Amino acid sequence: MSNDRFITRRDALKHTALLTFVGVGAGSLLTSACDKKASTAALSCNDTSSLAPADLEMRTVTMAYVEKTADPAKACENCQQYKAAPAPGSCGGCTILKGPINPAGFCKAWIAKQPS
Ligand code: SF4
Repeated sequence: MSNDRFITRRDALKHTALLTFVGVGAGSLLTSACDKKASTAALSCNDTSSLAPADLEMRTVTMAYVEKTADPAKACENCQQYKAAPAPGSCGGCTILKGPINPAGFCKAWIAKQPS
């Protein structure tokens, strides 16, 4: 009798290990993507209480800064002027606008980040 029709114990273990590896990897990627989306979505960088009126006008009127960009390809986090947040999930800064800057934000001064 041939063993062609039967799965050996070794083959079963190999397939189980492979499926477990793929499953864990996919789960990790999904969790990571969800965590990033959730942390960015929940972040608020709108505390402008310390800004002078002229700086506030520059931020909100002249440059029309918003907390969430309409075009994810043009967000503060990929802008040349963005100053990275000190920790993931916190507000960054900007070399042009004063006050906290949301990495998912946008303003009229957006310019593509250049490779360093
Ligand atoms: S210049 Fe505008 S788009 Fe660029 S980091 Fe500053 S606020 Fe964001």
